[in-house]
Amino acid sequence: MARVSNWQIGREMSYWYPESRPRRQFAAVFDINKCIACQTCTLACKTTWTSGKGQEYMLWNNVESKPYGFYPLAWDLNLLKALGPQGWEGGVYQGRTIFEAAPAGERVLGWRPDEMDYANPNVGEDDCVGSIENGAELQVPHAVWFFYLARICNHCTYPACLASCPRGSIYKRPEDGIVLVDQGRCRGYQECVRACPYKKVFFNPMTGTSEKCIACFPKIEQGLQPQCFLNCIGKIRVAGWLSRPEQARADNPIDYLVHVRKVALPLFPQFGLEPNVYYIPPIHVPLPFLHQMFGPGVNHAIQTYRAAPTDPDLAGLLALFGCTEQVVPRWRRRGDLVIGMDEGKKELLRVPMREPVHILPAHDAKYGVTRTNCP
Ligand code: SF4
Ligand code: SF4
Repeated sequence: MARVSNWQIGREMSYWYPESRPRRQFAAVFDINKCIACQTCTLACKTTWTSGKGQEYMLWNNVESKPYGFYPLAWDLNLLKALGPQGWEGGVYQGRTIFEAAPAGERVLGWRPDEMDYANPNVGEDDCVGSIENGAELQVPHAVWFFYLARICNHCTYPACLASCPRGSIYKRPEDGIVLVDQGRCRGYQECVRACPYKKVFFNPMTGTSEKCIACFPKIEQGLQPQCFLNCIGKIRVAGWLSRPEQARADNPIDYLVHVRKVALPLFPQFGLEPNVYYIPPIHVPLPFLHQMFGPGVNHAIQTYRAAPTDPDLAGLLALFGCTEQVVPRWRRRGDLVIGMDEGKKELLRVPMREPVHILPAHDAKYGVTRTNCP
């Protein structure tokens, strides 16, 4: 095992391979507060990549209702239980990562779902009280909350899938950090399925190989955002490139949200993979739940997000989400305009922070009509 630095847990940790970061890292920010669970992203991915034989159950992108939704069943609960205590002191994780907690003779602490764990992709949808069969009942007043968690592969800096593969079939591309399975090398041992804590590698029984989200790399190579981003109805997603914390640039949208304002947080950073999909946490959910899911930065992230209406830069950047198919590596705000640019600072798009409002009079003298839908 090598010693590598993991900024998300504020310390070094053990990993199967030495630290080797890509030239630039594909990354994304999802604003959970805007997701409506329409599943358009899920279908956009499904119809693009996983409509073949043996892929019927595969959802490289899925959206689950937390706290009672999962895909596959209990993917997070099973590992959280196995991992043991997960305390933080300030920004430093005190527990063990899944690499440090690996049983003797294994590379990663993991578990493999049964077939039936994949049977109900939308289990727990919109559920805020648990199941009646298990004794749950509505109480008044009651803590009614749930939220939608959209998930794809995190294209982790320290992928557990890659670390666990005995064939060396999984690789992380040096040019963009996207993690792929070499279908020619894979022999279907499913160690990666067992190892990925997010359960984002799937076994294809027809081909006998493992398959996973490819971050729509043919689009990324053309400077375009993946299908699930482009089709997102709620405009909750933005894709781009993430720098190391010490190299963060305020004019890089992902750096700004993750490193500068610290409003977007990794999913279960304590697992130790340095995942590269970041979430703006939901502002209406009890903090202890969010603390376990997104780490110790949740309080700051929620306060910052809540203050966005009086924070024109943050509000402006949030207005850029979902406004173009192109990846926007640079941005700036000018008054009420948000401008997205390419690496050479050439303008790609401009978005007004406030939509123009036209108030029509109830009686329109020009046309001699009275509008019945006006107050
Ligand atoms: Fe591998 Fe899972 Fe990380 Fe994706 S989320 S890179 S499948 S460990
Ligand atoms: Fe949520 Fe967007 Fe997916 Fe709809 S398309 S479920 S809003 S992430």
